[in-house]
Amino acid sequence: MSKVKTAFFCQNCGYESVKWVGQCPSCGQWNSFVEEIIQKESPKDKKEWTDAAEGKRKNKTVSLSEISSTEQPRILTSDPELNRVLGGGIVPGSIVLVAGEPGIGKSTLFLQNGLWLKDLPVLYVSGEESEQQIKMRADRLGLSNDNFFLLTETSTQVIFQEIKKLKPRLVIVDSVQTLHTPFIESSAGSVSQIRECAGEFQRFAKETNTPVFLIGHITKEGGIAGPKILEHMVDAVLQFEGDRHYAYRILRTLKNRFGSTAELGIYEMTDSGMRAVTNPSEILITQKEDQLSGIAIAATLEGMRPLLIEVQALVTQSVYGTPQRTVSGFDLRRMQLLLAVLEKRGGFHFGVKDVFLNLAGGLKIEDPSIDLAVLCALLSSYEDVAISQHTCFAGEVGLSGEIRAVNRIDQRIAEAEKLGFEKIIVSKYNYTNRKNTRDKNGTTGYKGNIEVITMGRVEEVYQHLF
Ligand SMILES: [Zn+2]
Repeated sequence: MSKVKTAFFCQNCGYESVKWVGQCPSCGQWNSFVEEIIQKESPKDKKEWTDAAEGKRKNKTVSLSEISSTEQPRILTSDPELNRVLGGGIVPGSIVLVAGEPGIGKSTLFLQNGLWLKDLPVLYVSGEESEQQIKMRADRLGLSNDNFFLLTETSTQVIFQEIKKLKPRLVIVDSVQTLHTPFIESSAGSVSQIRECAGEFQRFAKETNTPVFLIGHITKEGGIAGPKILEHMVDAVLQFEGDRHYAYRILRTLKNRFGSTAELGIYEMTDSGMRAVTNPSEILITQKEDQLSGIAIAATLEGMRPLLIEVQALVTQSVYGTPQRTVSGFDLRRMQLLLAVLEKRGGFHFGVKDVFLNLAGGLKIEDPSIDLAVLCALLSSYEDVAISQHTCFAGEVGLSGEIRAVNRIDQRIAEAEKLGFEKIIVSKYNYTNRKNTRDKNGTTGYKGNIEVITMGRVEEVYQHLF
């Protein structure tokens, strides 16, 4: 037995250091180093994903032409959103990290996906909940499956022994923070444990061609070590996000070796589990009888999918000395910039107003094309004049008040038309090249029932609307 060895790990990014340092040289975080006990394994404790693999590995060099390139078919789940986010189903032998805040429904989503896969044995490893709790959850989902196996265990070596017996075709681990391996002495959830356990599952996935989902918790403050340090080890990172107070959840791809990272899945949390939302625009726009001020509809894109979303703004006289700025789903600094543009270009006095901004459904949108709708919602509330419900917007707003072109404009227009909008206001700079030409009225050659209006400056939009 060698003597106890310790090292310091950055709890933010997993950087390892022999001594304590105040600021992480890798990620720049302050006071993020914690001492952890690591026991360097002696040579006889040969670490494998399982004992069974010992001695069986016969890695030798091969000529590239000897390797068959027949790709194994992906496993298609019954969840169209998950399939899309993964780039067309689960790749055999891949290891996928699913990160998200605690309590937003990661376990539910992967429990139901495991239960839906009836044709192949699935092992669900839980270190978080008891068998009874998971059974009750499955009952609430109204699902059962004889091919779905449950293991409440946290030791990786015990898990691998069970895997050896069961030979599952898919393994779901909930969560990676509860795992521990006997080869490392620090406690479960520490950086070195998480990294080592994930490494064992990675070797298991590659050697047996079994896909593994590792669920990992993160907090807004980044207070829990973990998922971040695994990002470079895994094949794909999915982030499950959403506001606990809203029913909608987004599954976003942050990394994917086997597909695009621009994809996104939308779910609605219901009593009977996560429901895939295949046509999100319809739920993100509240249909109202009477027109209200402060509302504008943005034609955005999330991933490859067009999405129409309602922007709600409230501009009121400031009661206290310091005007309030409150934003949900949109970047606060971005809104302050838009307010500054309006002050400077339009002479509006937002400096004495409280401004609240909200995106419907609790979603977060990063697409800059939402700028124009945000600006129009702010103006609509400021003027207390409603914008027609049949109008929507797509455009980025620049510092000098110009409306910039956005990508894939035809796809946005088509989606708006599909949903029954009569008018869409877009940047004229989308139509400066030969392909997209405008006629003399400033309208585009878009063929359809929707009127496409192009504008170059926010002043023009203001005059058009109010
Ligand atoms: Zn760091």
